[in-house]
Amino acid sequence: MYRTHTCGELRISNAGQKVTLAGWVQKSRKLGGMTFIDLRDRYGITQLVVEADAPEALVEQATSLGREFVIQATGEVIERQSKNGRIPTGDIEVKLSEITILNKSVTPPFTIEDESDGGEDIRAKYRFLDLRRNPLKNALMLRHRIAHETRNYLNNLGFMEIETPYLIKSTPEGARDFVVPSRMNPGQFYALPQSPQTFKQLLMVAGYDRYFQIVRCFRDEDLRADRQPEFTQIDCEMSFVEQEDVLNTFEGLMRTLFKNVLNVDIANPIPRMSWYEAMDKYGSDKPDIRFGMTIHEITSSVKGHGFSVLEDAAYVGAIAVPGAASYSRKEIDALTEWVKRPQVGAKGLIYIKLNEDGSIKSSIDKFFTADDLAAIGEKVEAKKGDLILVMSGDNIRKVQTMLGVLRIEMGNRLGLRKSDEFAPLWVVDFPLLEWDDETQRFYAMHHPFTAPKPEQMDLFYSDRKEDLEKVCANAYDFVLNGTELGGGSIRIHNADLQKRMFNVLGISDEEAEYKFGFIIHAFQYGAPPHGGLAFGFDRVCALFGGSDSIRDYIAFPKNNQGRDVMIDSPSEIDQVQLDELQIDIRKQS
Ligand code: ASP
Repeated sequence: MYRTHTCGELRISNAGQKVTLAGWVQKSRKLGGMTFIDLRDRYGITQLVVEADAPEALVEQATSLGREFVIQATGEVIERQSKNGRIPTGDIEVKLSEITILNKSVTPPFTIEDESDGGEDIRAKYRFLDLRRNPLKNALMLRHRIAHETRNYLNNLGFMEIETPYLIKSTPEGARDFVVPSRMNPGQFYALPQSPQTFKQLLMVAGYDRYFQIVRCFRDEDLRADRQPEFTQIDCEMSFVEQEDVLNTFEGLMRTLFKNVLNVDIANPIPRMSWYEAMDKYGSDKPDIRFGMTIHEITSSVKGHGFSVLEDAAYVGAIAVPGAASYSRKEIDALTEWVKRPQVGAKGLIYIKLNEDGSIKSSIDKFFTADDLAAIGEKVEAKKGDLILVMSGDNIRKVQTMLGVLRIEMGNRLGLRKSDEFAPLWVVDFPLLEWDDETQRFYAMHHPFTAPKPEQMDLFYSDRKEDLEKVCANAYDFVLNGTELGGGSIRIHNADLQKRMFNVLGISDEEAEYKFGFIIHAFQYGAPPHGGLAFGFDRVCALFGGSDSIRDYIAFPKNNQGRDVMIDSPSEIDQVQLDELQIDIRKQS
């Protein structure tokens, strides 16, 4: 037996026991003839001591231990002279009688402590060492906990966890596919799933009416802090359900996770907001409702004053920033530059200051009287001391989105986005389709398997773009503090309706048959009404851990270039492999 206890286990009640521990040497130091060793494993740290009067060979062995050596140590648990209240084993130490070196270690490239001296690149290269550090260990423990609670909750409701294949045919979720060449079928490729969407629907056809899977998904997208080329979803599907059933079931999951993992009670019921309201009031389909500062349309209030920018605009909107009338000219100029950055994309920013003393100052004083400006102030529900920020343009949603970005920025600046506050929200009633001017076609806002609302079938079968734009779906997103944590929809379960959907998306019958024949055919064999959703598991973990970066919650993540720098991947493959696959590489000169 390598060990009797872990390094996180011993307490004062174990005093007098003979124990054997195994773990990694975090550090060893000599103090007045005694040698102290901090022994670490994933459960904690225990202090080992070799006393000055111990046999010389033992003392010598103890002093020769390098950092990260793996040792087995036997001795007696004794009460410590100077206790360490910061660790659970801090009341005791183990007085050693024997040390066995199980393996040596070369000097690690950074210190393996909570505050490491290693930079990000080096830690990524030695991820297996970084994972020994508490912050990452705690993140993975949190991840495990959330997975476990999820399985428990869903299992209790009769959900079955069923694995679906990774080598599949493309499932369109709006991103590029990763593809895998097939040796046995030269010239043909599998695609890695962007999600198990079609398979979970086929499971519904097969009668497994409550399915879930904590599953890896693959999307070849440009990366950001909250995106990875491979990521994990809590993927779920249910049969014989309406939107209400799905929302209630998964509201329950989220409530259970918050309660059991964080001991936080979230809103009950979770509020719901239509996509239209979210866009109109928050300029975002994932509004952060921890604070107000909502967008107000003021288009009609600014017409007829001769200011051409506003005169010509199809939409004018504003937010009132509380207490920000004290912003200096310089600060407002800086804010104007900020909204002009390509990430926001505004042409400019109009301001109206409602000063504390009742006076009003604005960048449009030439065109508007104080009364006009006060009326605008009333419309946007601004108070004395507020700064009103106005944007305008021809594309309503675009202007609202810019105002939404500005709102979040002002929320950050004013400290209104408190990290200990959790404001969940269901965004519902999404439009089914999204028109793209560039390609002059509709795209599915969620995905092509999402059903139109039954009461809007006439519009869905209309040939007019204006009609199709009005069609909504029973699609829903779970949003928390301005982050989309999950989403799903009630699905199409009728072959003809699915065909119509592909047609609306500009996919011909032949193409639909080639790409999606399997699902259209399956729908002819008794497909039940069904719907579901998926949560971004990595995001849920990061959010629960209070972090913006999902990378810390993934054991072996990729960097921003999609590389795993530890195993140096992606990498070239040798000619033999290429020949087997019948693939020629065209090198770019
Ligand atoms: N497959 C969808 C996604 O990955 C989720 C769903 O509709 O259930 O976003």
